[in-house]
Amino acid sequence: MRIGLLSDVHANLPALEEVLRDLRGRGVDVLLHAGDVVGYNPFPNEVIEVFQREEIRTILGNHDRAVLTGDNYWFNSVAATALRWTRACLESSSVSYLRSLKPRMELEIGGSKLLVVHGSPEDADEYIYEGDLREDILPPGFDALVMGHTHVPFVRRLAGALVVNPGSVGQPRDGDPRASYALLDVGQGHGELRRVEYDARRVVRAIEAASLPQFLGVRLLEGR
Ligand code: ZN
Repeated sequence: MRIGLLSDVHANLPALEEVLRDLRGRGVDVLLHAGDVVGYNPFPNEVIEVFQREEIRTILGNHDRAVLTGDNYWFNSVAATALRWTRACLESSSVSYLRSLKPRMELEIGGSKLLVVHGSPEDADEYIYEGDLREDILPPGFDALVMGHTHVPFVRRLAGALVVNPGSVGQPRDGDPRASYALLDVGQGHGELRRVEYDARRVVRAIEAASLPQFLGVRLLEGR
């Protein structure tokens, strides 16, 4: 069983479309997403539509949660502005969709057990980079742990399990502006990181048209 692993799409429709195009013909059986469907970028309703149409199974990220609660005390001002904008333009069907999401997902795929969380197994808001990995991060009994949130990708084998952060489709922060995702074969214990070029300028134009903070476009072009 091959898994297409996505995270942090953040309402970036052009990036998501390009990643889905890249995934075609790669024999992927299931698409998973580690949270943050919306926030930052200006295509939240369109992206939620694609998630439903393509049956991308996702958990709730911290931005998705904040959009529902309006609770943004811990956001910087750019994220908070984008959050208010997203709340104002979400259609009711999109709100229902976000409300249906759970903060974590445990699944069995092809005989392998996967845990998908946004931050860490302990805390959805915790940032775990590759250098932070320790064996005790793995809850017992899982063959793979998937995390998002940092927007920085890695694949590591740790104590017999695969630990993967597929990076961010919609707002990469590792200096490479291309959309990031991963292909996973849990049975084989194999994960591959992929990068996909997309039309970030289209998003920058939409950010300007929506009067969202300019920095949101700059960071897309620079991958930070
Ligand atoms: Zn995020």
